[in-house]
Amino acid sequence: MPRCRVCGAPASYRVPWANAWFCPEHFSRYFERKVSRVYERYVPRSVERILLAVSGGKDSVAMLYASARVVGGEKELGVLFIDLGIPGYSEEARVIVEHHAHRLGLPFHVADIRGYGFTIGDAARLAASGRLGRPVCSICGVAKRYIMNRYAVEHGYDAVATGHTMDDILGFYLAGLSSREGLRSVAKLSPYTGGGEKLAARIRPLYFLTDAESAMYVEANGLEILGSKCPFAPRRRGEGLRLTIKEALENIDRRHPGYRVMLARTLADHVSGILYSALGPGETRRCSICGYPSSTDPCGFCRIRLRIHRLLGEKQDTGSRHP
Ligand code: SF4
Ligand code: ZN
Ligand code: ZN
Repeated sequence: MPRCRVCGAPASYRVPWANAWFCPEHFSRYFERKVSRVYERYVPRSVERILLAVSGGKDSVAMLYASARVVGGEKELGVLFIDLGIPGYSEEARVIVEHHAHRLGLPFHVADIRGYGFTIGDAARLAASGRLGRPVCSICGVAKRYIMNRYAVEHGYDAVATGHTMDDILGFYLAGLSSREGLRSVAKLSPYTGGGEKLAARIRPLYFLTDAESAMYVEANGLEILGSKCPFAPRRRGEGLRLTIKEALENIDRRHPGYRVMLARTLADHVSGILYSALGPGETRRCSICGYPSSTDPCGFCRIRLRIHRLLGEKQDTGSRHP
């Protein structure tokens, strides 16, 4: 039986790139050290109030607990749950996230998408009938990014932390290298991205940790996570470029342990900065409908929202007010 590298107790968690085994306690320490490194090395001291965006899945729950343990004493933390109005799924997720926020003694916030006049359930129906011209997950992604930023800005948070793992980040990275617009998003893909007017900064505490490691952290700490999958999740594995990249990188990592970690380090410490210096911040306009920063006018969220309102045949407000 393998033994923990630190204390010699029976070990059940393996970190292949470090060729190390850990017991549950020392695996948790390893995981939290990696999260701590992101906060210490990349997040400026001036960032005091952080909104932790939690969906109830393994990654965001791991990010929540590790962040609370690592910076809970020095930063003011709050938990944000976005109710997307996905029948059955959103209700179950909310109960889990609220439970964890209370257990950690953190303020629990809910941003309900219904305040914008539609739900992801509505969007899924319209997308399935082909009337939206894009898949529901792409609409949901735009909505989540918009709502978490707007909620943070309107509630005085300096930054939003998300549960994106190294696998997600490397997927965005390699997919982004294939177009000029993609390069701009790679330039912002560091563990910490600064904010601006009506734009909260972003923190990615799991930048140097894999999906598998967040699953192990959740298990080692006996944390409850969402049991069901979103009913709108793509059925076929392999769908989407980022998932293909993720699987390819996992294969490379099996033959060359540590490759993904090295890729993430060079992205964080060199590539994103070099690209940012070369490309600049890009043109930032204001959405003439909601007033939030965007590269297009109206912003992507307002465009989607108004289109869905039209298709639903409802009269909606102008979006100038947060629900
Ligand atoms: Fe949204 Fe798609 Fe994720 Fe469901 S699977 S929560 S629709 S992004
Ligand atoms: Zn140990
Ligand atoms: Zn807008």
